[in-house]
Amino acid sequence: SIPLGLYAGLGKASKMGALIKGGNYLELLKDVDTVVFDKTGTLTQGQFDVVEVNGQDDLLMYGAYGEFYSNHPIAKSIVAKYGQSIDENQIDDFKEIAGKGIDVKIQGKHVCLGNESFFEDMNIQVKEPKTVGTIVYVAIDGQFAGSIVVADQIKESTMKGIQLLKEVGIKNTVMLTGDHHRVANDVAQKLGIDTVYSELLPQDKVQQVEKLLKQDGYVAFVGDGINDAPVLARADIGIAMGGVGSDAAIEAADVVLMQDNIETIKDAIIISHKTNKVLK
Ligand code: ADP
Ligand code: MG
Repeated sequence: SIPLGLYAGLGKASKMGALIKGGNYLELLKDVDTVVFDKTGTLTQGQFDVVEVNGQDDLLMYGAYGEFYSNHPIAKSIVAKYGQSIDENQIDDFKEIAGKGIDVKIQGKHVCLGNESFFEDMNIQVKEPKTVGTIVYVAIDGQFAGSIVVADQIKESTMKGIQLLKEVGIKNTVMLTGDHHRVANDVAQKLGIDTVYSELLPQDKVQQVEKLLKQDGYVAFVGDGINDAPVLARADIGIAMGGVGSDAAIEAADVVLMQDNIETIKDAIIISHKTNKVLK
C-alpha cells in the first residue's frame, strides 16, 4: 500500500489540476530535470487561422476539399476559412501522410497539400511566401499551384509556465515539432525554450526522447495529440493535456493536466518535493 504522505500529495495535486496516476510518478517528479514539449496544442493553442492564400481563385476550394477528411488542426482551419458546403462526391482516394500532408483526388484532379519536405519528396518546386507562419503548399496534377499560410498562437499560460519550471530546477526545456524550423525557432525564442528539434516525423520524436533518456536525470514529455501517444509512453513521465488531449494521449499518460495549463507542472513538482519530506 502507498504511504499516507503520497495519498495526501496525490489529492493535493489533483485539486490543483494535475491528475497523477500513481504514487511512483509523484515521487519521481522531483527528480525530473528535462521537460520536453510538443509544440502544437501544448505550447500553442493548436487552433490555426488562415492568414494568407496565394494562387488561383479556387485554390482555397482545393485546400478545403483536400483537407475535409483530416482531423489535423491545420486542416480544420482551411475548411473553416472556405466556409462553404463540401460535396463529398467530388473527393476520392484521400490519403493523409503523417508529418507531411494530404494526397487526394478532387473532381478527378490529383491534389497534394503539405509542407516543403513533402513537396521535396515529390520533386515539386515551390514558391515560398514571405509571410511568417506554417505554409501549406498546394499542387494540382503534379504542378505547383500556390500556398495557404496558417498561423497558431502561443497559449497565454505557456510563457509563465516555462519560466516557473526553471524556478523549480528544470535544467533543460525542449521543444519537439513537425513544423518548419522557422516557425519552431520563432516560438522557442519567444518562450525561452533551451533546445529545439523541428521538422520531425512522429517516429523521430520517439527517437529524440530516447536520446534524452540516456542522459542523467529524468525526462518528462508533455503532449496532446494522437501522434504523441508513443512518446508519452516512452518518457519517464508522460504528461497529457486533459482538455484538448486525445483519448489515446490521456490513456498513455502518467499525469493529466486537467486545465491544459503547463504552470500546473510546477505545482506538481513542488508537491513532489513536499511529499518526500513527509515520508522521511
Ligand atoms: P506537430 O509536431 O506540430 O504536431 P505534425 O506532426 O502534426 O506536427 O505535422 C507536421 C507538419 O506536417 C505540419 O506542420 C504540416 O506542415 C504538415 N502536415 C501534417 N498534416 C497536415 C495536413 N493535414 N495538411 C497540411 N499539412 C500537414
Ligand atoms: Mg501534434
